[in-house]
Amino acid sequence: MNSGVVMDFFIVLFERFIDKFIGLYSNSWQEILFFMAILMLVFTLLMLVEVVKSGYEGSTLRRLLRLERNIVNDLISFLITHSSLMVFLAAIMSLGSTHIIAKGIRDLLSFDLSLYLPGFLHFIVFFVVLDFFNYWVHRFMHEVPYLWHIHKYHHSAVEMNFVTVSRDHPVERAIGVLATALAIGLTGVPSENYVLFSLLFSTYGFLKHGSFNLSWGWFGKYVFQSPKDHWIHHSNLKEHCDKNYANNFAVWDHVFGTYYQGDVINKKIGLPSEDFSKHNIFQLIWCFYWDFIMSIYFSIRRKAMVVFNKIKV
Ligand SMILES: [Zn+2]
Ligand SMILES: [Zn+2]
Repeated sequence: MNSGVVMDFFIVLFERFIDKFIGLYSNSWQEILFFMAILMLVFTLLMLVEVVKSGYEGSTLRRLLRLERNIVNDLISFLITHSSLMVFLAAIMSLGSTHIIAKGIRDLLSFDLSLYLPGFLHFIVFFVVLDFFNYWVHRFMHEVPYLWHIHKYHHSAVEMNFVTVSRDHPVERAIGVLATALAIGLTGVPSENYVLFSLLFSTYGFLKHGSFNLSWGWFGKYVFQSPKDHWIHHSNLKEHCDKNYANNFAVWDHVFGTYYQGDVINKKIGLPSEDFSKHNIFQLIWCFYWDFIMSIYFSIRRKAMVVFNKIKV
């Protein structure tokens, strides 16, 4: 048995584990390939529109042709995200914990609004509930110090292009499984066609990370977060980075007071004091993961010392 066969065995084992216990990832290889083919078509068309609308300088096409470290990292991240490798990494790096909690949530909560609502309405309710949880996951990622180590991965991009949307750390994906499980537990699994929906929102994700700089007026401010507002979220100014957490619906930022109301424009993307442009994607995934584990370890050790000293006294 060579190491490739062993690896394949573990990947299959983990996929079965997740399919059996969670049931959230059930796409076949054929479905994934079909989805990727359509996505590539949309991606190519959008790339051409971006060049026409916003110019070649700063466009995704130019970055792809120059193939610098940042976009190579984004491309590898895109491949990982859209393959079963992400499921595997998410399960391994979270030690299976979030998947097991997700199963607990789904066992505990089993409301099914499809019994009361027509298909499309049920789907909308599910999507709004999921987006609400994703707002809070994103906010916790910024405001809980352990989790910020993980989310830094998304913000480590030093320039933006369509593919930056895929820069999600496997642990962030694993935590995202909890948000999905909660939304499913509270509303039921929608029966609507997910492929069209996924395509629409992948396109929206590309738009938000491209150089379109669109604000979409009131629609971008209050309904769907505009590309301009997501650029503000990626800005390397601290007051920008901790604003505009919405994944889709901008309204959450208004309701919970995190919408950026100022008018400071900053074109620089990334983190204020650190430059990750020289690291490859695997170094980034690993170093942020290590910081995450060590910050939890030191926090537990500090608390244990306090308890230990109290007992001694
Ligand atoms: Zn963020
Ligand atoms: Zn982003």
